[in-house]
Amino acid sequence: MVAWVSESLGDQDFSPGSGKMAGAYVQILGAETLKRGNPVYFGWIPLFLVALAIATVAVRRRRLAHRMWLLGGGALLFLLVPAILEDKLITLDVTPGLFILLTVGVVVAWRTYRARGLVNPVSNLPNLDALRANREGRKHAIVAARILNYEEIVAALPPNNERQLIEQIVARLNVGSPDRLLYQGDGGIFGWFEEPKQPFGNHLEALHALFRNPARIAGLSIDLAISFGVEIGSGRSLANRLASALVAADEAAHHGLKWKYHDPETLENASWKLSMLSQLDEAIDRGEVWVAYQPKLDVATRRIIGAEALARWTHPEKGPIAATEFVAAAEQHNRIGKLTDFVLEKAVAAGVQMIKRAADFDIAVNLSARLLTDKGFTLRLSALLARHGLAPNHLTLELTETAALADTGEGLDMINRLRDLGVNIAIDDYGTGQSTLDYLKKIPANEIKIDQSFVKGIVDNRSDRLMVQSTIGLAHSLGRKVVAEGVEHRDILETLVELECDIAQGFAVGRPMSLEALAKRVSAVRRRSAA
Ligand code: C2E
Ligand code: MG
Ligand code: MG
Repeated sequence: MVAWVSESLGDQDFSPGSGKMAGAYVQILGAETLKRGNPVYFGWIPLFLVALAIATVAVRRRRLAHRMWLLGGGALLFLLVPAILEDKLITLDVTPGLFILLTVGVVVAWRTYRARGLVNPVSNLPNLDALRANREGRKHAIVAARILNYEEIVAALPPNNERQLIEQIVARLNVGSPDRLLYQGDGGIFGWFEEPKQPFGNHLEALHALFRNPARIAGLSIDLAISFGVEIGSGRSLANRLASALVAADEAAHHGLKWKYHDPETLENASWKLSMLSQLDEAIDRGEVWVAYQPKLDVATRRIIGAEALARWTHPEKGPIAATEFVAAAEQHNRIGKLTDFVLEKAVAAGVQMIKRAADFDIAVNLSARLLTDKGFTLRLSALLARHGLAPNHLTLELTETAALADTGEGLDMINRLRDLGVNIAIDDYGTGQSTLDYLKKIPANEIKIDQSFVKGIVDNRSDRLMVQSTIGLAHSLGRKVVAEGVEHRDILETLVELECDIAQGFAVGRPMSLEALAKRVSAVRRRSAA
């Protein structure tokens, strides 16, 4: 029989999987053979087709459970059926079909796993990662909406009501565009794509108006506050653009606006601010940072008796950068130490130079209140004074925001140690912030510097004049000297004489200047008064 089969079929390829095998068997053996109970081989094609059909039906199912049942059931069938048929001497090749079912099963499971990370678990809306991953969005504008009081509302809601809240928000955001695909982030953030050329104003104002009506959840009437930000489109990544749209929404809320476009200049400012700090340290090393000295005038004798050292940064591209800008940034990020050391070093050296021209000269340096927690500061300062040979009573440290420190033992201890060292302490910008009588009593300052916002008005504004007058009286009764800041005009100076203020500082006396200019100025005044 086998010999006959080989002869009649010659050299043809009948290897399993060639597709010819099953047909050949049936052709060769025919119905007669089947009847006789001889084995029949159907090959891989029938089960492969069945597997394809099962896989097609499964991937069309919406629910994951249905898909997995179909694919799993199919695979089980593929294992059982050949075993049953084998009893009847019918052989089927399951491998290709089983391979199809397993491959589709793995792909479905992997996609579902990935999709889980792209869905907000409370609302089942796609989350912001899904927005960031949507390549189609590159051609569109991004609108971000922030519910400003979201956390507050969720905290006040009865348990399990957050979903209801989200449904109400989504219903409002979808008004006018029911097919819009909304993405939801945490903490009341929503986003979506829009055609970039459409005018956003009317639409977003209308949406904003919808949010004026309170939401009703669990019998509670809840006011929702919302703001929108729009990023029209740029070559940047979707993640960057979404962040910019959110910044614009925050800015809108901050300025009391309903919505705002993302402003690329803000981005430039933000990246400058971020790099400014790292640049500041290098700028000090490169010599871009220098110290200006603003003279202080004894009101009674009209002599310059000291100067305040003020940090200056001349950036090679941006030009002069305001001290308030870089000092505040350095303070916020705890990076004020290097700048302070630099200014102190220059100022102490300048003080030594100036004392040669005026023996009673006092040099003042601003000290960030944060440094009062730096335990090594007093030691470093006394070493610095010793190295330059400056007597501590010729140095004044100006402190702002000391009110909070007055309540913490640590800050007060440090001020006391500085006083023990012999340096003078001034309370800077007095009158702003929380300047209470108690605070004035507690801080062992030698000097009080009245903030320029009060001083500027003393000629025309009765209450400013009264404020300055009473502060001078109070400070004197506590044995402290008073410096008036912001003395911009001669008439302010004359009024300060009447009010018995001790020292004046401001443009009318002299703008912040170089050490050489200050030295010339002091020598000239001394020569004039000697003559
Ligand atoms: P401050 O200590 O109150 O310094 C006085 C500020 O008022 C200076 O501004 C000065 O240029 C300005 N000024 C002086 N007279 C007048 C006037 O008549 N009219 C007006 N409109 N302004 C006047 P500047 O140099 O921009 O410094 C601002 C603040 O930055 C300083 O306020 C001080 O708090 C801080 N600062 C400056 N240098 C340093 C520093 O080296 N270390 C620390 N920690 N802070 C510094
Ligand atoms: Mg100051
Ligand atoms: Mg001041």
